[in-house]
Amino acid sequence: MALRALKPQGWNRERDKGMKILIQKFGGTSVADRDCMTRVRAKVEDGLKRADKVIAVLSARAGDTNRLLALADEWSATPDMAECDSLVSTGEQVSISLFTMLLKDAGIRARSLLGWQIPITTDEHFGRARIRAIKSDVLRTLLTEYDVLVIAGFQGCTEDGRITTLGRGGSDTSAVALAAALDSAECEIYTDVEGVYTTDPNICSTARKMERVAYEEMLEMASMGAKVLHIRSVEFAKKYKVPVRVRSTFSDDPGTLVTQEDSSMEAVLVSGIAYDKDQARVTLRDVPDVPGMAAALFGPLSEKGILVDMIVQNTSQDGHTDMTFTISRKDLKQTLEIMDEVARKTGASEVLHDVSVAKVSAIGVGMRNHSGVAARAFAALTQEGINILMISTSEIKITILIQEKYVELAVRILHDTFGLDWDIGC
Ligand code: ASP
Ligand code: MG
Repeated sequence: MALRALKPQGWNRERDKGMKILIQKFGGTSVADRDCMTRVRAKVEDGLKRADKVIAVLSARAGDTNRLLALADEWSATPDMAECDSLVSTGEQVSISLFTMLLKDAGIRARSLLGWQIPITTDEHFGRARIRAIKSDVLRTLLTEYDVLVIAGFQGCTEDGRITTLGRGGSDTSAVALAAALDSAECEIYTDVEGVYTTDPNICSTARKMERVAYEEMLEMASMGAKVLHIRSVEFAKKYKVPVRVRSTFSDDPGTLVTQEDSSMEAVLVSGIAYDKDQARVTLRDVPDVPGMAAALFGPLSEKGILVDMIVQNTSQDGHTDMTFTISRKDLKQTLEIMDEVARKTGASEVLHDVSVAKVSAIGVGMRNHSGVAARAFAALTQEGINILMISTSEIKITILIQEKYVELAVRILHDTFGLDWDIGC
């Protein structure tokens, strides 16, 4: 693959230094068909009024990535990972070329670019590659000739030119990485919602769109199932201090700015309520309470890449204790197999499990400076008769495990308790 074909030429560091480049990323539903893409074109035209140049990062059209993955499964019981990436990355090749045609029809100087043509270099973990470097000089050079570069999200290539993909939802990360590489003032992520909400509007009608949210809060919310942004894109944005604005393709709302924490954010106790139904609870009964037991238990799980979330060890009785922890439901079968083996080796009496649990979290950087948040959350849930099964806390988060059937109610109660409800009067 001729990676050297796009050597930087014509870029003049001095002359182009002040060039204002806006990154705009459009998700699958935003580029689903011709009508949607026409709307996206208007967003890019608007971007060109606010900046000198626009880099539009596109996902595949809605459904295309799934279709390609299904095709791979149809062809092979164990699809080769590298070939799978090569196949699945074509979804973005389709969307960027179609979209660039629309831009050119409107007289906009534009061209499309695939990951390898820049290149966006990644490591060699096919299907979940991490970006290592972006040849930004190449892009800057091209921007002397074009006003808009339409770049395929979700993909990159290894040092030796094999195509990689960044994991599902990865084009957010492509966009943020490009913004970091090009020192862009802001990275706009266009999607089908107006921004980031204080909780899921589908279960809480009083959920509010946030104007700003701190990177750290967003990381907690994303990992808790508020699926607006690819989690790695937020990590990237935080590391390189890229302000990210989540906004809708289908409205003119300014959306939500994901940015560095500041004093106005700290004044707010709780910023959002997240929940996650993908939880299973496992208990190991009567484990001998001796040094090394936790390592004996959790070591084999981490070896298999199983993420353990909340952990509680009961107080010891007669030298024995119960250990309870939570995992993702998809890992339950494997976890139980491992725990049966651990129980056999350690002499634990039984392994119990429960899949009817879910967790609810209150998140806010303001918690760092305030006490009593946990107590207020517990009191509010108790008042509604919701039993608390497990609790874990961190500096900016309180997580409570409850019966799944109470999740919606718990979210609404906590949203109200911490004053997040939409004020109907305003
Ligand atoms: N097209 C890829 C996916 O569906 C990447 C993305 O949309 O961000 O996961
Ligand atoms: Mg997405």
